[in-house]
Amino acid sequence: MDTPIEVLRRIFGYDSFRPGQQEIIEHVVAGGDALVLMPTGGGKSLCYQIPALVRPGTGVVVSPLIALMQDQVDALTALGVRAGFLNSTQDFGERQAVEAAFLAGELDLLYLAPERLRVEATLRLLAKGEISLFAIDEAHCVSQWGHDFRPDYLTLSGLHERWPDVPRIALTATATPATHAEISSRLSLDQARHFVAGFDRPNIHYRITAKSEPKRQLLEFLRTEHPGDAGIVYCLSRSSVEKIAAFLADNGIPAVPYHAGLDAATRAAHQARFLREDGLVVVATIAFGMGIDKPDVRFVAHLDLPKSVEGYYQETGRAGRDGLPATAWMAYGLQDVVQHRRLALEGDEAHRRRQVLHLDAMLALCETVGCRRVMLLDYFGQKDTAPCGNCDTCQSPPESWDGTVPAQKLLSTVWRLDRERRQRFGVGHIVDILLGKQTTKVEQHGHDSLTVFGVGTELGNSDWHGVARQLLAQGVLAVEPNHGTLMLTDASGDVLRNQREVRLRRDTPRPARARTSGSS
Ligand code: ADP
Ligand code: ZN
Repeated sequence: MDTPIEVLRRIFGYDSFRPGQQEIIEHVVAGGDALVLMPTGGGKSLCYQIPALVRPGTGVVVSPLIALMQDQVDALTALGVRAGFLNSTQDFGERQAVEAAFLAGELDLLYLAPERLRVEATLRLLAKGEISLFAIDEAHCVSQWGHDFRPDYLTLSGLHERWPDVPRIALTATATPATHAEISSRLSLDQARHFVAGFDRPNIHYRITAKSEPKRQLLEFLRTEHPGDAGIVYCLSRSSVEKIAAFLADNGIPAVPYHAGLDAATRAAHQARFLREDGLVVVATIAFGMGIDKPDVRFVAHLDLPKSVEGYYQETGRAGRDGLPATAWMAYGLQDVVQHRRLALEGDEAHRRRQVLHLDAMLALCETVGCRRVMLLDYFGQKDTAPCGNCDTCQSPPESWDGTVPAQKLLSTVWRLDRERRQRFGVGHIVDILLGKQTTKVEQHGHDSLTVFGVGTELGNSDWHGVARQLLAQGVLAVEPNHGTLMLTDASGDVLRNQREVRLRRDTPRPARARTSGSS
């Protein structure tokens, strides 16, 4: 039997779960009842479709959206899922074919209009087949106080009496506590586990800052905003985990490392200390955190870029589970983009395409001049939320500026060096040329004779790194797969020919102080 994650990848072609999905799916697969509140676009369908595919039998989906059933079934069929529906739009022959397929055990999912369940013939039909679960979509239709009330939904409580061993999952995006309670009582779901997946974590302050000296920046962040607090610092590699943990300890901050290369006893001991002690900092790879329930984690810091927004959300979500102010802080720089662009070139075509989509979404979140929370929520399907006032961009809106001319200077330098074809050069050297620095390397290669030598003195060294980072993030510049050096793209040509304007975000060297309280 396939596991939920295998089904997600193989059938639906997604590589990770959205917030909440995995827990819900595992609960239903195990036979539990569930009441799911998730915003529209959050990914409710998979919460019953995957259990229906994993459990033996047919998943019966009750939905009032008759007009959409054909589309839903078509979309599933295109993915190779065996699905059918029964509603009043069908003629006798169509209905019979679906019933026969159900009885032959040839359907993974059967969509039903609620009024079908009032008909005894439908109940008799269902009794003759094998049912893996009942999914009750748009469950708020059972609420008599809501504007979507469907009297037929009241009969759904009978399913439980007739099929006491079949798990039921009720789903809705309507989240007032009153509706919630009403659904629960009318559908006899008081024994069900309730999953409330609003994606907003309002007590978390989000901040993403330009990386210059990561260790010093981290230390300053911890000392000024979180002295004595417990938190997690995520790094990409085991060696940087070790280095940063030692660095913090040397600077008087109690810190322990955690990564998969440590032996099991050490890992368990560090994890236990984190849960038990106050104010311990765990420096970790993403191997740390799954299943750890510590309510008073006051900050999560990232010293390297996560691979996806899903990862970022999951990792930062470990902060502030107690609802008190907490900070999600990240330092992010040019090397992160270079490294991730390079990683995204590995693997087969489909894998690469997915990596690039994930990375682009993550980079867009890093480089946005708008509210971070709005962007995060939008990514998870919660559209049109208002700017939050509790993220760095809300509190000190970054300026954007016209970076077309600097971009042209940088791109033409890359182009000139590329023409030499003898050796490829990293960003540092390119910036030295723009700034007109007489380094050994510049002299060695005679790069002081290039027309671009010294044309970029209007910006400083770190500004140029910021320009390169953003050009990479925007895809106006690319990473060469073998050496990780820079190369041009089609979009670079548009910029060089003045056919494309480049908007850049002004990096603030010292971000404004957070609203978050210092210690707790
Ligand atoms: P809802 O019913 O909650 O409004 P849907 O189930 O229609 O939301 O899902 C909304 C969109 O999100 C769909 O396009 C769906 O394919 C996509 N989606 C759901 N789960 C995932 C996932 N784990 N990864 C990527 N996309 C997903
Ligand atoms: Zn905001």
